[in-house]
Formats: sequence, C-alpha cells, structure tokens
Amino acid sequence: MPETFHGSLSQVTVSFKSKNDCELPWLKEITAIGSEDGAQIAACDAKLIKRDRIRPSFWQDMEEPCQETRDLAFGLFDRYGRVSRKYIEPGFRQGNGVWGRELDDGDILLFEKLVVDSRARRRGVGTKIARAVLGRVRDDAGQRKYVVVVRPGVLTQEVAGSGGDEGKRHLATSRQFWQSLGFRRIGTSSWFAFTDEEGHASRQLDASEEWIPPQDTGRYTAIAAQVQGAIDHVLSAPTSDPEDLRRLGEFFPEGAGFAQWFATDDEGNTVLHQAAIKGTLDVIKYLVARCPGMAAARNRDGDNPLETLQSSMELLRTRSNYIEMVEVVSDRFKGFDQSTIACLGFLSGDTEVFDLTQLSREEISEISSATDSQARTIHPEADAIRRALRFKYGCTCGQCIGGFLSPRMKHMLEEETLGQRDEDLMLMWDDDDWLEEGRHMLTGRFVKCLKKGMVPNENNILTLVSDKQEPTLEAFLEEGGSVSSIGTTIFERMLESEGWQLALNPGCQETDTGRVLPECRNDLELGFVSGRCGYKRVSPGRKYFHDEEREEEEEDDDDEY
Ligand SMILES: [Zn+2]
Repeated sequence: MPETFHGSLSQVTVSFKSKNDCELPWLKEITAIGSEDGAQIAACDAKLIKRDRIRPSFWQDMEEPCQETRDLAFGLFDRYGRVSRKYIEPGFRQGNGVWGRELDDGDILLFEKLVVDSRARRRGVGTKIARAVLGRVRDDAGQRKYVVVVRPGVLTQEVAGSGGDEGKRHLATSRQFWQSLGFRRIGTSSWFAFTDEEGHASRQLDASEEWIPPQDTGRYTAIAAQVQGAIDHVLSAPTSDPEDLRRLGEFFPEGAGFAQWFATDDEGNTVLHQAAIKGTLDVIKYLVARCPGMAAARNRDGDNPLETLQSSMELLRTRSNYIEMVEVVSDRFKGFDQSTIACLGFLSGDTEVFDLTQLSREEISEISSATDSQARTIHPEADAIRRALRFKYGCTCGQCIGGFLSPRMKHMLEEETLGQRDEDLMLMWDDDDWLEEGRHMLTGRFVKCLKKGMVPNENNILTLVSDKQEPTLEAFLEEGGSVSSIGTTIFERMLESEGWQLALNPGCQETDTGRVLPECRNDLELGFVSGRCGYKRVSPGRKYFHDEEREEEEEDDDDEY
C-alpha cells in the first residue's frame, strides 16, 4: 500500500493542557495535544500516579479515578502497589523475564489514550506526542524513580481507528507501536512497561522476541456444546456422582485425540481448568488419571490448571465484587476450605492433603507452636498437618508458623514489640503502676512466644510460654486486663510504626541489610495475622474494622474447626 504523505512532521506541534479538576493529591493528569496549522490532529491522555502516597490503600485509591487505573491496579499489582509476583518470579508467567521488582518502585506513568486523526496517520505523529509526554514526565521527575505502563489496544487508538471486526489486527498494530517506543510486555500479562534505564533487560530484548499470548495464535478448538453440558452438570454438584463421571468419560474415549482433550471454552480453559476453578477434586483426579498431559495445558492468561486455581484462590482471598465496586477483603481472610486445599495439593503433587477438619482449634495451635520434633510426638502426622495449614493459609515460603506467620512478619513483629516494650518501660518510671506492669509483662511474653517460634495467641502467652506464678499478672487479669487488648494494641501500634512504613515501601528496603529471610505471600497481611492470633483484625487501608464486624469475626473464628 502506498504511503500517504501529508506534509513534514516538523509542522506538528505538541502542547500540554493543564487540568485543575483533579482533586486527588496523588494523581496528576496529563493531556497533550498535537496540532498542525492551528488544528488539532492528535491527543494523548496519561496519568502520573504518585504511588508512595497511597501504598497502604493502593487498590481502594486506584479504583476511584477511572476504569483504566482500576484495571491496572487489580490486574498488575497487589494491594500495596507491588507488581504481582506471578509475573516476575521464575516460571512460564514470567514471559521473557525482562521485568522484576524495579516495577514496585517509584511513580507510575499510565498511558491511557492516544488518538491520531485518520488524515494525519503514518507520519509519526503518535510517536512524537508519546515522546513529548515521556519527556515532560522525565523533566518533572528529576531524581524520582518512575515506570511507564500501557495496555496496548484497549483504550489506545494510536494507529488504527475504532476498527470493528479488525480487533486482532488493531491490537497487533497497537502493540507494535508501543514496542517501537521501547515498551516490553510484563510477564504474560496484557500490560507493557518502559523504563529510561538504558541498561535494563527490557531495552536489550528485540520486539520480535516478545512473548505472544496463545489466543493470538488461533490454534484453539472449542469444546463441543454437548461436552460442555456434561461438564457443567458434573461440576454443579459438590461431590461427583460416579455415574456422572462415567458419562463425562464417554466424551473422551480411550485414544481420544489431542484436540478433544485440549478443547477449550472462550477463555482458553480446558475441562481440567474448569474443574480446578470449581475446586472439584473427583473430577480433577478423574481427568488427570486419563490424560496426565492436561495438567500442563495453558489458557488465554497463560495459566495451567494449577495456576488457574491459585489465581482464583488469590481473588477469593483479596476481593469481593459488587456491581460497580470491588471491596478489598484481604484483612478478613480466614483460610481456604478443605475441598479447595485438597485440589491445590493434588495439582501441586501432594496427592493426599491432611483433612484439617478432623482437628480442634487447640490441637492445631499446639502443633503449630511446637518445634518439628515436638510436633511429631503430639501427632504422628504433624508434618502433613503443617503442610495442609500452609495450603489453607496461603503460605508460599514453606516456613510460616501455623501456615500464616511468615519469617518476615515474625521478625517485624519481634522488633516492633521489643521497641514498644522499651517505650512502655520508660513510661513506667514515671508512673509505677501495677496495671502498667501487667501490660509490660504480657508484651514481654508476646515477644517470647515469637522468639520460640510459637503463635503469640492468648493460650500460648498465658500458659505455654511460662508457667511461673506471677501475682502482678494475675491481679492485672482479675482487674479486667486482657491478653486480647494487649495483642490488639501491639498490632495497632505496628501499623503506625516505622518498620511497617519501610516494609511497604520497596525503595527503602535496600537500607535494611543483613537479613536473608524468605519472601512469603503472607508477609504484609497484618490484619489476617492479627485475626489468626485471635486479636482484632487491624486494617492498613482504613485503619480498623467497626466493632460489630469484629464480634462477628470472632464468632466465626471460633467456629472454624
Ligand atoms: Zn510462608
């Protein structure tokens, strides 16, 4: 096709519109206009997000401005504005693996929209205007770090117009446009990022080497309606009828071809993906036994059935969707149910996950707080129980006490509580009060529990960690003092602490050297951990829950096992 040439690019000027209508102090809207001979021919909208100002409530804050900030926050980042680990940790979803933790740091420039008038295309106007926005942000940033992100082809109409059924072609063109500016895909997500750092791995990756999602290659076969009906039927019941399974099996006879087993729905999910999402263990076992290769099939998001289950568990743990709003429920997380963790275990290669419903709350607490060798004397299957607890409470480091208290959280709590105890000690000199002394004693026991690798819950603090008779403590408790109020205070003060601020802010973590503790999904889940220890659930986003919610919470926790 011959290039249409309308004139030289130098005639196009880019100007910035300043907007004062944004009331959010952490957000700066940038609008650039490209014009020629006084007429507007292109426009670009971007948002500069000052992430450090909204760390504790990143998701809630990002939900406010628009759909694109919402999609960015929930699609790419965790509740504290750190990039989803699945996109940067070793594995398939890391894609080309050019991005890492540097995405956690600094401001975020989000390109939202770039439109070029149809008569002015193919002259590099889009490039000129995008570069002008980048230049502007670079100048403003000074020493501040920032990363630039865009989701090609969604709201951006940088090259083609609104192309109707040309969706795929439009997406590819849009992707090429941003790639030509140096943007590279983040893992297997639909988001692309750019950094000014010349030596960055993303700058070394040729665009032709980029990972392309399987849905774009068009090699999927759709599941036949009849088969889908049989799957829906068998997955609708909590436990599967062997007869239903047999009937499902009829659709996959001995020697059924690749296409049949690996046929998918619109989202690229095979039958096994669907069973994993529903958490139906019988069906999962049945399918894997008949076609083991299915466990490696990937859907449109690039997830295998195990990862699909993990993603849906992560959603369950963190969010509750209402019509137009997402509620962040991370601090209310109480663990996954037995059938879900049985599926998670099976797909992770742990064929028999211990049934935790057989144990009382006390037994679990005792096993959680014991050393490895002690635990085996308490229960012969202590190792299996601990593994099941880690599945239940979402531990990813393999070392969480009770499955929820991670090494980093433990360290942070120890440091903070020691600090609190010393502060209180200084106060006590002013006011030599036995009430204060009781508090001080309990705080000390809280730290002692942590140091011994025990869950710092009421029972452990009162009986397990020390059986010494302490009259001051008894008087304190008789007068209405309680472990629960002390424990809650420890967590509340933690939220205000410097240690917590540092933990939330990846840029500051480099100064915290000398510790090599494993990273865990549970590291920053303060509300969840305070609740699991039996205290009020603190919440970084909006401070604390209301009291009614708290009571309901406690009842539920008691009924859990
Ligand atoms: Zn862990």
